[in-house]
Amino acid sequence: MKVYKNHSLKELNAFHIDVKAKYLVRVTNEDDFKEILSNSFYKQVIKYVLGESSGTLFTKDFDGLVIKVDIKGIKKIDENDDSVTIDIGAGEIWDDLVVWAIKHHYEGIENMSGIPGTVGAAPVQNIGAYGQDFAEIFLNLHAINLNTGELKVFNKSELKFEYRDSVFKNELKDKYIITKVLIQLNKQQLTDISYHSRYESLTDELAKVAKKPYTLSDIRSAILSIRSRKFPNWKIHGNSGSYFKNPIVEKNKLKEIQKNTRMFSTIRLKKCYIQRGMPKC
Ligand SMILES: Cc1cc2nc3c(=O)[nH]c(=O)nc-3n(C[C@H](O)[C@H](O)[C@H](O)COP(=O)(O)OP(=O)(O)OC[C@H]3O[C@@H](n4cnc5c(N)ncnc54)[C@H](O)[C@@H]3O)c2cc1C
Repeated sequence: MKVYKNHSLKELNAFHIDVKAKYLVRVTNEDDFKEILSNSFYKQVIKYVLGESSGTLFTKDFDGLVIKVDIKGIKKIDENDDSVTIDIGAGEIWDDLVVWAIKHHYEGIENMSGIPGTVGAAPVQNIGAYGQDFAEIFLNLHAINLNTGELKVFNKSELKFEYRDSVFKNELKDKYIITKVLIQLNKQQLTDISYHSRYESLTDELAKVAKKPYTLSDIRSAILSIRSRKFPNWKIHGNSGSYFKNPIVEKNKLKEIQKNTRMFSTIRLKKCYIQRGMPKC
C-alpha cells in the first residue's frame, strides 16, 4: 500500500485548509491497516483517522500519519419479519447509506438525512438530528487498536453513548480506527415525525413538500428542505454546521462565571448529564 509523504490535505478537508500530512495512507480494508502497523516506524508515529473531514479543522501541518478511511460496502447480512441487519464499511458516506435505506424501505435513519460525514465517524459523536440518534439503530462495530493492531468488536454498552458523545470522544479518543459498523433498521414503517422546535416543525414541513400518507422519501425531502435553510452547502462554503450542547463546568468555574456574567440560567453544575440537548440533574 502506498504511503504518501508530505502530502497536501487541501482536497481532503472540508475547509480546504492548505496543510500537509507528513504521511498519508488511504485504507480500503482492514488488512491495509494491519500492513501499515506491521512496519515498526509507522507503528510509532502519531496518527489521525480521517473520514469525510466535516468534523475536522486542521490548523497546521500534521506531523504524523493521517489515515483516510476508504473502506466501502453496504450489505444486508440478516433479516426477519420486522427488521434487517446491515453491515457497512466505515468509509461509506452516511447520507449515501440513508438514500440506500430509503430505497429499500428500511426505516430508522431517514430523519438523519443530510448529515455530512462517514459511517465510521457516526458512532464517534453519536450523530443525530430531528428526533433520531445513531445510538438507536447501532448493534456493534469493528475497530482496530492504532497501537497494537488488535481487532476489537465493540457492543452498544461499551460505546457509552450520550448526546453527541461516545467513548471514542473520551477515554478511547484517537486510540482506534473503526472499520465497519453493524446497524439494525425496521421493515415496518414506524416513522417518527413528531420533531418540532421553537422555530420549525417536521409535520409542517412535510405538509409543504408532500401529501399524506407520508413515505420515508417524503420525510427525507422535508428534512433536506429544513436543513438547506440553515446552512450553505458545506462542500462549497466550508462550515462546521451546528449542534447544541450545554456547557458543563466545575462548581468553582460556575461561581466565577456567575460573578462575571448574567448567564445564570443557562449554566448547570457538573453533576448534570445531557440527553437530547436537555440537562438531567
Ligand atoms: C454543515 C454541517 C452540518 C452538520 N449537521 C450535523 C447534524 O445534524 N447532526 C450531527 O450529529 N452532526 C452534524 N454535523 C457534524 C458531522 O456531520 C459529524 O461530526 C460527522 O460524524 C463527521 O463525519 P466525518 O466523516 O466528516 O468525520 P471527520 O471530520 O473525518 O472525523 C471526525 C472525528 O471522528 C474520527 N473518525 C472519523 N472516522 C473514524 C473512523 N473510521 N474510526 C475512528 N475514528 C474516526 C476522527 O478522528 C475525528 O476525531 C454537521 C457538520 C456540518 C459541516
